[in-house]
Amino acid sequence: MSKQKLGERTICTHTGAVEDPIFRGAVSPIYLSTSYDFIDQDPKRYPRYFNTPNQEFLSKKVAALEDAEAGILFSSGMAAISAVMLTLLKSGDHAVIQNDIYGGTRNFIESHFESYGIAYTFTKDLSSSSFESCIKENTKLIYVETPSNPLLKLVDLFAIAKLAKTHNIVTAIDNTFATPIIQKPLTLGIDIVIHSATKYFGGHSDISAGAVASSQAIIDQIWGLAKDFGGNLSDYSVWLLERSMKTLAIRVKAQQKNAKKIARFLEQNKAIKRVYYPGLASHENHQLAKIQMKGFGAMLSFELSNEHDTISFLKSLQLIKPSMSLAGVESTMILPAKTSHALLSEADRKAQGISDQLIRFSVGIESKKDLIFDIEQALENSKNN
Ligand SMILES: *Cc1c(COP(=O)(O)O)cnc(C)c1O
Repeated sequence: MSKQKLGERTICTHTGAVEDPIFRGAVSPIYLSTSYDFIDQDPKRYPRYFNTPNQEFLSKKVAALEDAEAGILFSSGMAAISAVMLTLLKSGDHAVIQNDIYGGTRNFIESHFESYGIAYTFTKDLSSSSFESCIKENTKLIYVETPSNPLLKLVDLFAIAKLAKTHNIVTAIDNTFATPIIQKPLTLGIDIVIHSATKYFGGHSDISAGAVASSQAIIDQIWGLAKDFGGNLSDYSVWLLERSMKTLAIRVKAQQKNAKKIARFLEQNKAIKRVYYPGLASHENHQLAKIQMKGFGAMLSFELSNEHDTISFLKSLQLIKPSMSLAGVESTMILPAKTSHALLSEADRKAQGISDQLIRFSVGIESKKDLIFDIEQALENSKNN
């Protein structure tokens, strides 16, 4: 292929395919071997070295999408996140962590950092000044996640990257909600991008995987730890993930197109108190979203008015599934107060703006009119007497 920079949909479709020189099939063959020739092969290939042919090649697709030099795939998002954190943070180090991050990430930090001798500070809010005020002499990592869950608040990535550089601190982002189709943090100066590939990369709610993209030097450093911790993805899943990622760009774009229209529909509906979507002018970070994102994503949250019961609303849905997780081609809704944020005290939830009436909506690729119809009929069937 020519030297010109490939378009995103071309990268999704072609980059990182494993060639089939013998049969010249159209799709990548799966190499399931766990044993490779060591005499004439360099590097030595082994699944846990993250370098079977399928792993090695699919990580090139992830890297290309994130404008990164290199990538590495994991068996889950948390395997990726924990590998990044434990690579960068050693006993005696300190990390600055965004206050509202994925529950599993928070739990990892709060449950294990102390036993590793790693100190941390959660920011007060998502402002750059809040991050700055948490920096200490021994801070080695600033960790962000934007848009955040479930209120889709944004962190100013360019400002955080600049702040970190002046203090010689490495930055990492969980880019799961945005995907590289909507946000490319490395181009804004962030050092490491992490994905739960269980979400949009997989996109069909049937793969557990994680991915990291960064400079070759940082990926090599992460590899040094990851190969000892294990946590590589099976080649069956790598192959399935490659197949899924071919449609990443078109899926995400179709989903965000639906989300934008549904956010407007919800905002005008009397049964909805409030809608949180970065694409709405009413969202606190709408201006920043226009600058650092290409589109506004396909995740939104809304608060049902008190005249409606959330459980009967969710049970009345016929098309949209009330189910955990997110980012599949099918639309799903959850109650953050009863799931991701159930472990917080009611006061903490309130402080974070997560009410019992709040519903998070992962918008799928269905026909928009059918989604709207489903919401309307569920609203009709969930009125309190
Ligand atoms: C799901 C998720 C994770 C964790 O990914 P797993 O694949 O479940 O380990 C991390 N960050 C975000 C934003 C997520 O949505």
